Amino acid sequence: MAKPKSPKLDWIRPLVRELHPYTPGEQPKVKGLVKLNTNENPYPPSPKVLKSVRDAVDGRFRLYPNPTAQLLRDKLADLHGVERDRVIVGNGSDELLALATRAFVEPASRRRDASGRSVIQYWVPSYSLYPVLSDIHGAIRNEVPLQSDFGMPSVATLKKEGKWHFQAALTYVTTPNAPTGRGYSNQELRALCRAQDGIVILDEAYVDFAEENAMALTEECPNVLVSRTFSKSYSLCFQRVGYFVGHPHLIRALDSIRDSYNVNGIGQLAALETLRHLSYYRANFKKIIRIRKQVGMELESLGFDVLPSETNFLFVKPPGADASEWYEGLRKRKILVRWFGNSAFRDRLRITIGSKEEMEQCMHVIRTLAAKGAGA
Ligand SMILES: *Cc1c(COP(=O)(O)O)cnc(C)c1O
Repeated sequence: MAKPKSPKLDWIRPLVRELHPYTPGEQPKVKGLVKLNTNENPYPPSPKVLKSVRDAVDGRFRLYPNPTAQLLRDKLADLHGVERDRVIVGNGSDELLALATRAFVEPASRRRDASGRSVIQYWVPSYSLYPVLSDIHGAIRNEVPLQSDFGMPSVATLKKEGKWHFQAALTYVTTPNAPTGRGYSNQELRALCRAQDGIVILDEAYVDFAEENAMALTEECPNVLVSRTFSKSYSLCFQRVGYFVGHPHLIRALDSIRDSYNVNGIGQLAALETLRHLSYYRANFKKIIRIRKQVGMELESLGFDVLPSETNFLFVKPPGADASEWYEGLRKRKILVRWFGNSAFRDRLRITIGSKEEMEQCMHVIRTLAAKGAGA
């Protein structure tokens, strides 16, 4: 047989050839690791959700699922007390975040002007998917640093400093933020959204662990979309279900460019059943918040710098040795956390809040390492 030939380089778009794909947190193969690296929920879905999924495994698999996830859409509208045409469901919120680039942003190659129609803007640090989505779409990235305490500068300060683009086509705000854990008040979010002439997506992936949510801003401001997901707080990462809430015109724009069957049938069903058992999940939020507070205090007593968190993780600066040494030391002892080695925040670790037992194991290892005076 002849040696297979390679495809020609120019069969692939130059923009695509040069992309750097998103780096997801590691899904380790090693057994027995305490996995505190991707902000998954330590508690399983409600047994009722698992049962409903099991019961659905039958001949229905040959049929297409509901194309608009209509039942789920209706229930989400009820949950938030909004009209049905203000909700769209996606294959995880990541899908919707990507759809938004296509619906609202003009690729820069076609129209590189100063109007902001090609600009995607976000704070640094925030969700590391945003630059990836911007590059895939060929948008112009405007990355604006947060303050040194990871707070947002006021609108007045932004106007004075001139780095923020008030006409950006699309602005992503992770709130509460990741990886910092910091929450933003509705007052400051409102001021920012009102000052913005373009779409603002408030990415509330972690909002169930926070004090406040910004859903009301979707009614107040016609340019605001709130993004939610079943992944983190509803223990459903595996099923890929997220949704946006916002003005019907924006929802219609997104709806017109999505895949016909973007949300799989089992995912729709699992999310629907989840909404019938919210008290189970709310009890889990409380447990996670309680453990977060406890672990935060313990880490502080060991000399860690712990940022206040309104999420299910802590962003901490360990004492003594480099964060990379702590990361390795923890990993050697079967505790997996996240270290952003290629960033300006390489002096910190992000630790997902696990179950009580997992965090006891984690803290035991951290105390051992601290006693040695380093991560080694
Ligand atoms: C995890 C995460 C998402 C992705 O959620 P999916 O619904 O699983 O796609 C979105 N935004 C932020 C900030 C996240 O941390």
